[in-house]
Amino acid sequence: MLVVMKHGASAQEIDDVVKVIGEMGYEARPMPGAQRTAVGLVGNDGRVDSSRIEALPGVAQVIHVTQPYKQVSREWRPENTVVTLAPGVRVGGDEVVVIAGPCSVESEEQILSAARHVRAAGATCLRGGAFKPRSSPYSFQGLGKRGLELLALAKRETGLAIVTEAMDEEGAELVAEYGDCIQIGARNMQNYSLLRFVGRLGKPVLLKRGLAATINDLLLSAEYILAAGNPDVILCERGVRTFDTATRNMLDLTAIPIVQGLSHLPILADPSHGTGIRDKVIPLARGAVAAGAHGILVEVHPHPERALSDGAQSLDPRQFAQLVSELRPIAAAIGRVVAGAPEERGVREQGSGSRSGRAGVAAEAAGPSAAAPR
Ligand code: PEP
Ligand code: MN
Repeated sequence: MLVVMKHGASAQEIDDVVKVIGEMGYEARPMPGAQRTAVGLVGNDGRVDSSRIEALPGVAQVIHVTQPYKQVSREWRPENTVVTLAPGVRVGGDEVVVIAGPCSVESEEQILSAARHVRAAGATCLRGGAFKPRSSPYSFQGLGKRGLELLALAKRETGLAIVTEAMDEEGAELVAEYGDCIQIGARNMQNYSLLRFVGRLGKPVLLKRGLAATINDLLLSAEYILAAGNPDVILCERGVRTFDTATRNMLDLTAIPIVQGLSHLPILADPSHGTGIRDKVIPLARGAVAAGAHGILVEVHPHPERALSDGAQSLDPRQFAQLVSELRPIAAAIGRVVAGAPEERGVREQGSGSRSGRAGVAAEAAGPSAAAPR
């Protein structure tokens, strides 16, 4: 339930609403807004008798949230949530955020090379798993803490924000220490104790849709994180299992506008896991941005043929540069802009003194293959 206060309601009137909600046995969450304050009521399972609150001075309206999730819903918060991952890296506004990097962190050379390449093409965040949820226990499981140290090194070198997966509570604490955003993977979307745990860590969370999860399931999982006190949740459509074996998963682009209608949280698309096929990643990424995704999460490897995981769906640096350049006019067509400038522009700007320290990165990353747009 949401109690919307009248424009100009006094602090005393707001306090009285908070007090009455407490007396009724629920928790009150005051949410000051540009126009007026709302007070959310949490802790109820089912409809609450609002008559006592409606009678209080300063109360304009009581809204009963009709969805099973509350804090995640648009009824609760009409404005979009914008999550700040790092200074200048915001997800959920007009900028389309590009998060790119290998499936797994494999070595210092690999992750630094990947970071330089994706930075040069315009990504603002680096992805890469240190803890890998693999279908087979005999597949590469990730470098663990060493992988996080390498991601931190890549961040120091390139300034990219780090998004990386945690599979359990111990890993989540480490990811919170080294990274900027904790990824909860598809397989853990319904690991409710882990969701509650990351809800208490005070770091942004990227929550991926489960392999067989409905949109309702996804939003209820996000609710666990918000209910634990963390409002900084970014959702990610990464494809679901269907009867069709032509692709690894079926990237559900309908989920993007549907989620945006139901929730104020940002939503990204992952066309890499969503297709499983390298040459299908670019068209689906274009489609996702056209459908309104707030960003994309995409796998890029300096040498996809040598990747220890998900090489078949990883772009090489040249393809990634092409992808980013193709996304720019699509974003512009819907009033958005792809965050981050490609390095070539950065180097030119550096000449005019507006940026510094990236020439070496650009030289390494540009190489013969970091081609200009098609
Ligand atoms: C990943 O991003 O590398 C990953 C394992 O994704 P998902 O959880 O969507 O399978
Ligand atoms: Mn992967």
